[in-house]
Amino acid sequence: MIDTHCHLTYDPLFEKVEQVVQRAGAAGVDRMICVGTTPVDSQKAFALTQRFKQVFSTVGIHPHYADQCSDRDELEQLIHFLGQQPRVVAIGEMGLDQHYPKPPLDVQVQLFQWQLEIAAPLDLPIVIHNRETTDPVLAMLRESKIDPARFVFHCFTGTIEELEKILAFGAKVSFTGITTFKSAPHLAKAAVMVPDDRIMVETDSPFLTPAPHRKVRPNEPRYVTFVADFIAEQRGMTAQAFEALTDRNAEQFFTKLVLV
Ligand SMILES: [Zn+2]
Repeated sequence: MIDTHCHLTYDPLFEKVEQVVQRAGAAGVDRMICVGTTPVDSQKAFALTQRFKQVFSTVGIHPHYADQCSDRDELEQLIHFLGQQPRVVAIGEMGLDQHYPKPPLDVQVQLFQWQLEIAAPLDLPIVIHNRETTDPVLAMLRESKIDPARFVFHCFTGTIEELEKILAFGAKVSFTGITTFKSAPHLAKAAVMVPDDRIMVETDSPFLTPAPHRKVRPNEPRYVTFVADFIAEQRGMTAQAFEALTDRNAEQFFTKLVLV
């Protein structure tokens, strides 16, 4: 199956990336999308796609690193260059995050705005990071006039009310291991509310190992099956049927996953 969002370039995974990719394969996870979070990280993620046929990547700047990118032209060149590579399947992750005070929101908004402008004419899906910022993020997405079906809200951790707004907008929604935590029963409920054709799963590894392996650090793409199996049970589906469904959704959304 497919892990639609991981960070193989981050320290605890990168140093043993060969084993991580191999262990994923042994667990049936044959494709994974390594999501870029800075200009350097996006290049590093792209380099992994050249090493492993199982790895695909994205290009984008995470709001946490919004202060690491102040040149719009450079950003545009990077996104255009990487975006046309056959194994770079999306733009992002980009968005807003008010969980931490830094970088300041106006810096995050500026960078998010640039990335939406650059992404708009490109024929690629867009990975959205949103933490405690659903209203301003949705306002910016609406303003961009980009087709709502091109967006996935990754690692959904919001309230039911926020989920309803995202679904009404028309975006896809992706769930991580947090959904399996006993401390987050509303996420289990949220994972049942998303229509069949708009749900995806991911690890966001090295973070957020799902139950029953919560204590295992770091998380790895191989554990995405536990996210899928948990949600399958909530939705009253067999694990096999749900995994087939989320893989199909991932292939239809990240269309380049099937080109190579
Ligand atoms: Zn991420």
